[in-house]
Amino acid sequence: MTNEELWQTVLAQIQLNISRANFATWFKDTEIVSQKDAKVMVSVPNSFVKEWLENKYNKHIFKILYNTNQEIKEVNYIVSKAGLKSFKKESVILPEVDQLEFQEFKVDKETNLNPRYIFDSFVVGSFNELSYAAASAVAKDPGAVYNPLFIYGGVGLGKTHLLEAIGNEIVKDFKKKKVKYIPSEKFTSEVVSGIKNHNMELFKSKYRKVDVLIIDDIQFLAGKEKTQEEFFNIFNVLYENNKQIILSSDRPPKAISALAERLRSRFEGGMIADIGIPDFETRIAILKMKAQEKKVDLPEEIYQYIASVIQRNIRELEGALNRLIFYQKLNKQELSVEVVKTLLKNLLSSPTKIITPKKIIQTVAEFYDLKEKDLLTTSRKKEIVLPRQIAMYLLRNELKNSFPFIGRKLGGKDHTTAIHSYKKISKEIEKNKRLEEEIHLIKEQLFSKC
Ligand code: ADP
Ligand code: MG
Repeated sequence: MTNEELWQTVLAQIQLNISRANFATWFKDTEIVSQKDAKVMVSVPNSFVKEWLENKYNKHIFKILYNTNQEIKEVNYIVSKAGLKSFKKESVILPEVDQLEFQEFKVDKETNLNPRYIFDSFVVGSFNELSYAAASAVAKDPGAVYNPLFIYGGVGLGKTHLLEAIGNEIVKDFKKKKVKYIPSEKFTSEVVSGIKNHNMELFKSKYRKVDVLIIDDIQFLAGKEKTQEEFFNIFNVLYENNKQIILSSDRPPKAISALAERLRSRFEGGMIADIGIPDFETRIAILKMKAQEKKVDLPEEIYQYIASVIQRNIRELEGALNRLIFYQKLNKQELSVEVVKTLLKNLLSSPTKIITPKKIIQTVAEFYDLKEKDLLTTSRKKEIVLPRQIAMYLLRNELKNSFPFIGRKLGGKDHTTAIHSYKKISKEIEKNKRLEEEIHLIKEQLFSKC
């Protein structure tokens, strides 16, 4: 492989695992400058990026390189201005990355909305039609129909896109309305710094002026009491004044543990809609929409192939498509299904794609706001026993692990405990809708992580 091809392979996979903003920040203007004596040298634009790649992404980069070519033993990073210039001139790929970044950073300063996310580019199918219908109703008449609107679903399935589309539509149709989009982590950090700098009043008055407040990924408020309290106050003021509130989360309000009961019941007082997993036809429609946005068209059988191998995450569908487009531009030739298969094989069978016992335990712990090691204890506390049983159930169901193995994995329990847990959860799911839904969501998170 040439330097460029090799680096493209790395970038295409990295892109799937990190946010666009991070990708643009850390991987823009990087390239492989040499592959010699089992060493790969990557040039980066400045020492800040160098440090970041070394500390944060090196393992990941190395793993991908090694998977592509087992002879590679080491990666090094150098700061290079000269390399950068010549690369820019020759490269056929970089403009694409630039464009991506450009779109990413066109975020409006006032509203914090990214103009890229609009209803027109949102494909609707049976998996998301309820959420879409609720979103368009809210956009037509903010504050009047569903308040709050609460959208939930797994990672990469379009929550952010839909939330921002509502915001963008309202900005367009109601010029006077003040719209604000904010991810909940950012909201939390504003609360924290407001407290630290004694200017909570400023913070509060800022939000109280808003007509449409959109908070993304609200599950991150779990356990943050002070933030929840501030949010509750702002929520009430806005709600009483018929201002629209729109929220998203990776799970329904009742499944967010450590969420104050009063907040939960507030959320449940509005409209709750979920986004599921798109079917095959819709996945193809989404791929075509994305290809069109990028002004390329691929043969029908290629769309079909991608849609058949990537099923659970729209961000990944897009990532695979980007990768193929990169490749096509680089090689200046039409893609065949054969080539696509090899290109995506690498991506689909990369080590991060495999579900492992560890990942199951991790995901279950995260879902219930526990530490992994809590699940491994012998605690009989209700909030630990059920998640532990669910982890055992998933190990059996998803990985077909043996019961003695499952017992060992969960802190050295007896195999009879594992059998009991598996049977109990299997039976319970049949009659307990809520449990069924929770397990479904855990699986979605598990798969989208993989
Ligand atoms: P989430 O917030 O649920 O993790 P995002 O909204 O960030 O997911 O979606 C991930 C990517 O998939 C985005 O690039 C988005 O544009 C795209 N996407 C998601 N759903 C759709 C859809 N229904 N139609 C078109 N693109 C979609
Ligand atoms: Mg999101």
